[in-house]
Amino acid sequence: MRVFGPFYPPPLQAAVSHAERLADLVSVEERSTGGGSDAAVAWLVGRSDEIERFVEQIVDDWRANRLGPQEAAAALDDYLAKLHDGLHSQLGIGAPACCFGSLTATARMAPLSAETHSIPVYDARGESIEES
Ligand SMILES: [Zn+2]
Repeated sequence: MRVFGPFYPPPLQAAVSHAERLADLVSVEERSTGGGSDAAVAWLVGRSDEIERFVEQIVDDWRANRLGPQEAAAALDDYLAKLHDGLHSQLGIGAPACCFGSLTATARMAPLSAETHSIPVYDARGESIEES
């Protein structure tokens, strides 16, 4: 079982879910980085596992009451911010998809259409997607 949950109180779960999306993004980048610079490859290799180990450590500290949920979330957010700096400087990724995932979870549901009784579908940025 992976560490990412959902098992945690809201502030910590939001940070853990962001870490999971970033780990997945980094993993995809690692597999497709054949043409990357040596520095970019060195930054990427093992990074996804590192993220998962870091989350495990934070969760262990939270479970042992060494950190409250807010403190654990803040520690994780701080670590993620540093990784985002690395994503930008090493890979040129300035607006990674991992940062947009939580918008989907917090977006308000639009009312049902009176004409079709269908449920509108939105992408991660909250823009409507036409169903075919
Ligand atoms: Zn992100």
